[in-house]
Amino acid sequence: MKRSRILSGMRPTGKLHLGHLVGALDNWVRLQDEYECFYCIVDWHALTTHYDSTQGIREMIVDNAIDWLTAGLDPNRSTLFIQSHVVEHAVLSMIVPLPWLERVPTYKEQMAEIKEHDLHTYGFLGYPLLQSADILIYKANAVPVGADQVAHIELTREIARRFNHFYGQVFPEPQTLLTKVPKLPGTDGRKMSKSYGNTIALSEKPDVMKEIVRNMVTDPARVRRTDPGNPDICPVGDYHDVFSDKNRVAEVDHGCRTAGIGCVECKMWLFDSLQKRLGPRYERRQQLESRPQDVLDILNEGSKKARVAAGETMAEVRNAMKV
Ligand code: SF4
Repeated sequence: MKRSRILSGMRPTGKLHLGHLVGALDNWVRLQDEYECFYCIVDWHALTTHYDSTQGIREMIVDNAIDWLTAGLDPNRSTLFIQSHVVEHAVLSMIVPLPWLERVPTYKEQMAEIKEHDLHTYGFLGYPLLQSADILIYKANAVPVGADQVAHIELTREIARRFNHFYGQVFPEPQTLLTKVPKLPGTDGRKMSKSYGNTIALSEKPDVMKEIVRNMVTDPARVRRTDPGNPDICPVGDYHDVFSDKNRVAEVDHGCRTAGIGCVECKMWLFDSLQKRLGPRYERRQQLESRPQDVLDILNEGSKKARVAAGETMAEVRNAMKV
């Protein structure tokens, strides 16, 4: 039986970190067993905000792809590709009413938040439309997203309905595959964000990662070693919940609340848990870093497959639109 198709992507605007791993990549890897997966490095999306500083995007495409491969995405099971290698994406802008784009919640939010780039551009306003085109061009049946992206998928469904209304049934209305993202704050306890400098990159060297973990913020109630703490309000506790096994989480919980362990000890346990999970990937990453052309070959091969799928849809689109 033909499997349902999903599509998802990441912008190559920086190194991937633990938030990308637990918020998306782990899920993407699991979904490979169930769906026909298209995973895309969305470099055009990067241009919607970083159009004035494009240096480094190519390097970041390879770097992000290495993290994908070391996380367990398998090019033999999923199509891993680069968005800009498939030109069919830019087709839907003719039929989308402007207010549909202006009312997307992230548009206003990011306009207010991002100060380092002038976002008064056609490209930035059209960002959710480009995302819709990514989804529709591959006729994805579902899209794995976090709660903040649900409005974008709803827009995609509206665009699909509008197109189908004008020209006949071509696009499926994609479903939202809501990804349950575990609580993982930044290392300083604030929201995890590259711009706060509170992330741990997946490519971090073990000794650097150890230092970052050592400097993590803890429950402020633990001023002295003898003060009991509360792991529920400590970022180190949150990280243990995600990366440590049940026994370790129980030890942390008890030891913290009874002041039976110190924060330094607790952090080194966390570092051990992270290394158990990420250490073997770090070694694989180093191998791939020495063979960037192999990584590009995988993306080029995936992009070829994606072009075939997009071309098939475009033939249907042209036929339906009589153009
Ligand atoms: S013992 Fe661990 S969980 Fe408790 S406050 Fe210290 S670092 Fe946080």
